[in-house]
Amino acid sequence: MNEKAIREAVSKMIVAIGEDPGREGLIDTPRRVAEMYSELFSGMHQDPLEELKVGYELGHRELIILKDIPFYSMCEHHLLPFYGVAHIGYVPNIEGRVVGISKLARVVECISRRPQIQERLATQIADAINDGLNPDGVAVVIQAEHMCMVMRGIKKPGSSVITSALRGAFRKRATIRAEFFSLIQERK
Ligand code: ZN
Repeated sequence: MNEKAIREAVSKMIVAIGEDPGREGLIDTPRRVAEMYSELFSGMHQDPLEELKVGYELGHRELIILKDIPFYSMCEHHLLPFYGVAHIGYVPNIEGRVVGISKLARVVECISRRPQIQERLATQIADAINDGLNPDGVAVVIQAEHMCMVMRGIKKPGSSVITSALRGAFRKRATIRAEFFSLIQERK
C-alpha cells in the first residue's frame, strides 16, 4: 500500500474541508490515517484460500456452524465502517473435509478488510469456503450496521442489514437450510 500517497491525499482533504493541516490536532492526522488504512485494508493483499489450505479429513458429514463472528469492514461507497456479525455453516463433503474453526474467522477477517459492500462480503466468504473446502454446501449470513446509514442520509440508527449467500446443499435441501437458520437464531 502506498502510505505516502494516502498521507498526501488526506492532507489535501483537510485543506479542502477548510481546516488547517498544520494545527496541532491535525498535524499527524495524515500519517495516522495512512497507517490505519494499511490495517483496515490489509485484506486487499491476502488470499482467503491460504487460510483453508490446512484442512483435514475427519469423516464428519454433519452441519458445522460458527456463529456471531464479529467483523469490521469499510463500505466502498462512503469509506465509512459497517460492522456486525457473520454466521457460517457448512456440510463437509464425502471425505468429511473440515478446517479448524479459527480459520473460518480468519477468512471473514481477510475478506472484510477491503473496500466492500455487504452483499459481496457474504458472497466472497461463501465462494472462498466453497473453493477451499469443496463442501456439500455452505451458508453465510451477515448482519451489520452501516455508519453511512446511521450518521448521514436516511439516519436510521439501530437498523441492520442482513445478507446471505447459500451454496450447494443449502440451496437444494430445505431441511438443512431450516436447521442452519434455526441454529443461528438461537440465543445463548
Ligand atoms: Zn455506504
